[in-house]
Amino acid sequence: MSKKVFIDPGHGGYDSGAVGVNNLLEKDINLDVAKKVYDFLKNQGLEVKLSRTDDKTVELNERTVAANAWNAECFVSIHCNAFNKEACGIETYSYNVATNNLAVNIHEEILKSKCYTKNRGVKTANFYVLKYTNMRTCLIELAFIDNIDDAKILLENQDELAEAIAKGICEYFGIEYKTNNKDNNDEIPPVDNTDTFYSVVCGSFSNRVYAEERIEELKKLGINDAFITVYKKE
Ligand code: ZN
Repeated sequence: MSKKVFIDPGHGGYDSGAVGVNNLLEKDINLDVAKKVYDFLKNQGLEVKLSRTDDKTVELNERTVAANAWNAECFVSIHCNAFNKEACGIETYSYNVATNNLAVNIHEEILKSKCYTKNRGVKTANFYVLKYTNMRTCLIELAFIDNIDDAKILLENQDELAEAIAKGICEYFGIEYKTNNKDNNDEIPPVDNTDTFYSVVCGSFSNRVYAEERIEELKKLGINDAFITVYKKE
């Protein structure tokens, strides 16, 4: 059974969340990053749900009720901070820090990604979504949307932030995070069925000699895992 992860992009709809540099809206950043986390986790074979997939209003209790009803095994809420344009950095909140590896795992992966300006640490808070969820939870304040340097990270490093969150979640579950060789993970669709494999066919021949010639051609192209399979007519 794969693990069930509930990702909660904060705010949405009528509630824009914090307003940042150049009128950047927190709700939009939260959603963009959350969708990327969704893709990264799906690629690792996890089950993932989002509290919202577009710009709509979702009440706090709707979020916790949905996660509880689905029996999610962890709940990660994604937010951006705002204060006085000077304050900057990342902080991660849990309801009870002493027992919360999830918050620590995610926080440390973001530090490793180097996409932050200041480490404000892992803290505790009794935010609604932390308090009324039945599973392990945390709330990430990725950066300060009203600070110029932080806003740049929020706009330019969404992939890195999202992958760090995905890695932290996998680590929390003890799942090895598989890194794709491709440079851009965005372009790889989620795994739709781990029991299904896709073979690439590159020619069918009635004479084995021609099949072996084709294998040689493929090897010259650097495709070394090409092989011959035999089909017999019934
Ligand atoms: Zn927020």
